Amino acid sequence: MPELSASEAFKLNNLKFQDPYITADGSTRAAVSLKHLETLWFNTGTLCNLACENCYIESSPTNDRLEYLSLNDVKFKLDEIRALKLKTREIGFTGGEPFMNPEIISMLGISLDRGFDVLLLTNAMRPMQKHQQVLKGLIAAYERLFFRVSLDHYSVELHERERGKNSWDPTIRGLKWLSAVGAKLSIAGRMCWGEDEQKTREGFGRLFSELGIAIDPMNPSSLVLFPEMEISRDVPEITDACWNILGKSPEQVMCSNSRMVVKRKGEAASTVACTLLPYDDAYVLGETLASSTGPVQLNHPYCAQFCVLGGASCSA
Ligand code: SF4
Repeated sequence: MPELSASEAFKLNNLKFQDPYITADGSTRAAVSLKHLETLWFNTGTLCNLACENCYIESSPTNDRLEYLSLNDVKFKLDEIRALKLKTREIGFTGGEPFMNPEIISMLGISLDRGFDVLLLTNAMRPMQKHQQVLKGLIAAYERLFFRVSLDHYSVELHERERGKNSWDPTIRGLKWLSAVGAKLSIAGRMCWGEDEQKTREGFGRLFSELGIAIDPMNPSSLVLFPEMEISRDVPEITDACWNILGKSPEQVMCSNSRMVVKRKGEAASTVACTLLPYDDAYVLGETLASSTGPVQLNHPYCAQFCVLGGASCSA
């Protein structure tokens, strides 16, 4: 792909991603149907104790564009899963930093009590560590509780370049604590420093050995490496024909098997197509799960960068 200046790329991307059904060259845009709601994500709110350089959702200590979800919001959706007899396996919690939400522990509790696998994304820093006592009890009581800790790189330098100064030590402390109390752990890292995947996995492997943490760095579900995402980069649009050309199927992208519940500021809780696009009106599918089952048009640069060409998924 040719290197473009930011303004050239912006212009080009502005010609693309316009019509939800037709791409800039007149082809039929790819669409993805919800096959089965395997995972329901809750975005607990965009407030975070960190302000990372490239946070795709722009979380920070001041961004409350996605307000805190309440326990009732979560309960309402879990009730809906039950009423609709959906075969949802997994409930995911993401933010922001989920442990900033004052009701997160009750949200975990109700989801676990109802028999779901629960995956919680955290930076494992002080907001999580404040809950150590109660978390220890949940970890001991529920085999289905999984933690995914964000550790952008295995080196202090690159992790802190992304997450800010002094962000390494507290995360490592939290990670070691989770491991020591027997939490089921995975790591979310990034692939944005020009290093190849094998090298990145080997680097994380050395770190896990030094820390004495039993995570297999070569297993893509244990060490999830996210591709670089840059909204201003020129990316191809995904057409219907791309599935065959790329040898991929719509069932491999997240919006075929997951949805996310968000509470956009001043609005009621609603369901959006995926974890990556909470602010884009075109991806808000309605207030109920029942209203959110329609096909999703792949009309955003992230559809190409992250899902179809990047091959990434947020889930377990
Ligand atoms: S970013 Fe991925 S999951 Fe989200 S709508 Fe696009 S293809 Fe679907």
